[in-house]
Amino acid sequence: MTRLHNFSAGPAALPLPVLEELGGVLQEFGEMGAGIMEISHRSKAFTDVSERAEERLRRLLGIPEGYAVVMLQGGASLQFYMSALNLLGPEDGADFIITGVWAEKALKEAKRISRSTALWTPSDGIFNRVPADGSYMVSSDATYVHYTTNNTIFGTQFQSTPDVGAKPLIADMSSDICSRPVDVSKHAVIYAGAQKNLGPSGVTVVILSPWAQQRSRERSKSMGGLPSMLDYGLMADKKSLFNTPNTLGIYTLERVLAWIEDQG
Ligand SMILES: *Cc1c(COP(=O)(O)O)cnc(C)c1O
Repeated sequence: MTRLHNFSAGPAALPLPVLEELGGVLQEFGEMGAGIMEISHRSKAFTDVSERAEERLRRLLGIPEGYAVVMLQGGASLQFYMSALNLLGPEDGADFIITGVWAEKALKEAKRISRSTALWTPSDGIFNRVPADGSYMVSSDATYVHYTTNNTIFGTQFQSTPDVGAKPLIADMSSDICSRPVDVSKHAVIYAGAQKNLGPSGVTVVILSPWAQQRSRERSKSMGGLPSMLDYGLMADKKSLFNTPNTLGIYTLERVLAWIEDQG
C-alpha cells in the first residue's frame, strides 16, 4: 500500500516504525505472554511504559522539577472545564486570549463555574492574527491567563510566549506540542490532546506547575473534594493510574516520544 500522509488536524500520521512495532506488541508484549492491551495497567510491565513516557516528555520539553505530568482521558475538550474547575472558585475569573474556536470553547466551559472573561478578541471578529505583547492589559484580579499556542483551523500561531507579567499562564498546545522548544517554566498548566502531535486519540497530556497542584488541592478542600476524575491533585498523586488509563494509547505515546528523541 502507498501510505498517504494525513496533514489534517485530528488523528494524523504516526511514524511508520511505531506502527510496525505496534503490530507485534498487540499480540505479544515483551515476555508477558499476552498483548499490550491484555495486561494489567498495574503490572510492572505497563507502569514501566507509563513512567518512560513521562520521562521522555520531561526530557523533550525540559519540564522543570516539581512539575507534575499526567496522562488523562477526555481530550483537550475536557481540559477546558477541568483546568477551570481546579483553579477557579465561583468568585474568581481568568483572562482568555481569544484567537480561535478552541479558545472560545475553553472560555465557554470556564464561564460555567467562574467569572472568566475574554482578555483579547480580534476587533473585526476575524481570527487571522494573534495579539502582540502590550496590546492587552491583564486584569489585576485574574487568577490566570489562558491562550492557545497554535490556532488549529485558522493557522495562526504564537511565535513567543505571551507576556502576562507575573500571572500564571495556561496553554492549550494540542496542535503544536513537541514541534518546537517551549519554556515550560513560564507556564502553570500545559495541556494537549495527543492525537495531533504525540500519538493516538484518547490520551491527553497535562503538565502542572507546583502552583497549579497547590491551587487544585486548595480548591478540592474548599469544595469538600473535587469529583475524583476531575481532580488534578488526585491524578498526580496516583501517577495517572487512579482508574484504568488508555494503556494502548500511553504505549503508543511512549513509542512516538522515543521516535522523536531518535530524530535528535
Ligand atoms: C483539536 C484541538 C482541541 C480539541 O481536542 P480534543 O482532544 O478533540 O478534545 C483543542 N484545542 C486545540 C488547539 C486543538 O487543536
